[in-house]
Parts: sequence; C-alpha cells; structure tokens
Amino acid sequence: MGTSQSESAFRRALEVLVGGVNSPVRAFAAVGGTPRFIASGAGSRITDVDGNEYVDYVCGYGPGILGHAHPAVVEAVAKAAGRGFCFGAPTEAETELAERIVAAFESVEKVRFVSSGTEAVMSAIRLARGVTGRDKVVKFIGGYHGHADAMLAAAGSGATTLGVPSSPGVPAAVAADTALLGYNDLAGVREAFRGIGDDVAAVVVEPVAGNMGVVGPAEGFLAGLRELCDAHGALLVFDEVITGFRLAPGGAQELFGVRADLTTLGKIIGGGLPVGAFGGPAEIMDELAPAGGVYQAGTLSGNPIAMAAGLATLKAMDAEGFHGRLEERSSALAEGLRQSAGDAGLAERTCCQRVGSMMTCFFAPGPVSDYAAATASDTAAHAAFFHAMLAGGVNLAPSQFEAMFVSAAHGADDVAGTVSAARAAFVEAAKIMDSRPAGR
Ligand code: PMP
Repeated sequence: MGTSQSESAFRRALEVLVGGVNSPVRAFAAVGGTPRFIASGAGSRITDVDGNEYVDYVCGYGPGILGHAHPAVVEAVAKAAGRGFCFGAPTEAETELAERIVAAFESVEKVRFVSSGTEAVMSAIRLARGVTGRDKVVKFIGGYHGHADAMLAAAGSGATTLGVPSSPGVPAAVAADTALLGYNDLAGVREAFRGIGDDVAAVVVEPVAGNMGVVGPAEGFLAGLRELCDAHGALLVFDEVITGFRLAPGGAQELFGVRADLTTLGKIIGGGLPVGAFGGPAEIMDELAPAGGVYQAGTLSGNPIAMAAGLATLKAMDAEGFHGRLEERSSALAEGLRQSAGDAGLAERTCCQRVGSMMTCFFAPGPVSDYAAATASDTAAHAAFFHAMLAGGVNLAPSQFEAMFVSAAHGADDVAGTVSAARAAFVEAAKIMDSRPAGR
C-alpha cells in the first residue's frame, strides 16, 4: 500500500496549515504516521490520493449516515447550488428542515440553525443562561460539546487524544462557571446539586457519550438528571450532535424516553455540509432574538445548500426499516469484532461497546462506563490495531476516544471484510498487550 502522495501532501500542508490539518484529531498524533489525504468517497468506501481504498467508519465523524456522495444528496446539493449560494434572507428550505426536526423530536417546538455543533451548544448555553438568569453550567468529564470556552474543560475527543482536555486560553472566570462531574455518576451529581443546584443554568450531556469512545448511559442516569434539573429549575440540554437521527429519528431522547429542555443537533442534519441547530419548547426558544433578548446570529445560518443536503439526507432516512437495518448491520459488526478480539486472546482485556450504529473497541477491560475507565485503555495497543486495520483496508478514527460510525451504505461484505481485517489487527494489538508486565 503506497502512501507517498499522502506523505507529500502532508508535508505541503504542514507549511501553511497548523499541524497540517484543520481539526486536531485528523493529524494522527495519537497513533503516529501520516494522515491519509482523501481524494474521494462513494458509499461505504473512501479512496486516498495514492489510490488506496478503505471501508470507512469515520463517516466524517458522524454526518455520513448514508455513506459518501449519496446520489439523492448530490442531486439536491447541485440543484440548490444552481439556484444561488447565500442570500441573507429566509428560504423555505429552512422551514422544511425545521419542520422535520420538530416532527422527530417531541421536546422541540422551535429551531434555530447555526453552522456547527460547537455553535449549537454555545448558543444553547447562552439561551439557558438568559432564560434562567444563572451562570453555572454542568458538563461531564470526557464529554465533548465543541470548542466554546465554557465546554473546554475535561473535554473528550481530540482534546483528550492530544492531552489538552482543559485548554490554555479559556479565561479562569469562564472555567469557574463550568462544574465538572462524572458521567454515569448520578450519586455524584445529586451530591453536587445539593451545593450548586439552584445556581445551575444548564446540565449539558451527551446522552450517549461518543467522545471518550462510546459509553452508554447507565440505567436511570438520564432520568435522574431530568429529575434533578426539574427540582432545581435548571435546563437539561441533550447534546444530540452525534445521536440525533442516528439512534432513532428522535435521537437518544426517543431511545431512552427522557425529555430534554434544549436539544443540540449537527452532523446528520447537514448531510456533511456545515449545519448545526438547537431547539426546544417555544416558550424557551422565543427568548432568542428577534423574538426575545438573547442574541444569536449568523451569515451562513440556514444556508440554502446546506439545508438542501440535510433535507435530502433526512428524506432518504424515511425509508421503511432504515434504523432496523442499521441496527442489524451494526450488531453483526460489533459481534464480529468481539469474536476477533477473543480469537486473539483479548476477550478479557478489550471491550467493544455499541449503542446503535456507534461503537468503540476499548483496549481495556469492560464495561467502560466513564472517563477514568476509558482513559485506562492501552493506547499503544489501540495504535497498533488502528494501523493494522488501515493496512487491511479499514479506515477508523485515529484515536481510542472516538466512535466507529456505521452507515446505511455498509453492506454485509463490508462487515465481513472489516471483521477479517480485525482478526489480524487484534493479533497485532495482542503483541503489545502481551509484552506488558503482568498486572498491568
Ligand atoms: N457535540 C458533540 C456531541 C460532538 O460530537 C461534536 C463534534 N464531534 C460537537 C458537539 C461539536 O460539533 P462541531 O465539530 O460541528 O463544532
């Protein structure tokens, strides 16, 4: 497998782009080696600039639930582009996409579109603060909600991967208003709320954590947060940037039957174009400008081409049995990965966790239920696994602390090929883990 074109593309990029990339986790810092520069993608596959083809489980870090370059989305984007790119005036596509979100999420009556997940969460927090008149926000250790100041404390995803979970440059005063609690530790949240509960504007949570690797909510955790927020007048913000439309049309809220006050969305609702959104009951959302006083705005918000991509994606997901098929495929993949790990003698030392079409194989004994358990993973073993998978034609995120995303384009042949590559890759990882002194 040649990589010379990617290597020279990376050298060139390093001259003018910080770290050669525009989002840190792409840089391969945690796994070593050169990031593959991608030339194209179609369905479940991507092709790099050296002509290597991979089955792709990054899927753009979540937007690609239909796979790459789905014909209906390509057509919708091309048509929208032909009508003009950006007007700074409302278009009907914004209303249509908002109507779909409102129909899918029981807790959402009104929506505001933005251009990224970061913006969605940042704006939802401002709204929650404006509505409650309080400053404190609660986030969970290892949760990632974009890179707004208030959320860059003990953050997962690339921040954890690169060892900067709490970034320099975040004002101490801002950090002081972010309370950090343990994911799945409801007793800890209860205890903290006894002290600060009445000062909390919002509890922001990934209902299924996807940025410390995939960690599902413990039984009763989300419902417990709901109760505490109700008891103390705080708003519960479900960050469904990953899970929205992926786990069910109505996201994790539908799957777990817990209502959020505000919901943040991104990724799938833009079909791979830059879109984020937040929404909730009209009573809360109408506090936003121009209806209310909480200011939020954007030149590219509700961009017509991005709206067209999102709409075409959601329409394609209306297909009968869409989520059922995704679940079957994902379950088969997770089972195959577990078996491959077992065959390599790693059954007790790895754990493949899955919720719907998002999964992570941790190089740590399971179950992994929080950040401490996730970060106890053997990242060197993960790096060996990652590189062996890449060599076997399977593209994973270059970090232990990310999810694998299965799309509707992944077929039984993709799953079989991936499991076969994993058999060899777990053997490589086992060599690293077996070389550790006993007891580690
Ligand atoms: N929230 C969650 C749960 C995310 O996974 C992400 C990005 N991975 C974000 C927010 C931020 O979204 P964006 O990268 O579009 O700003």
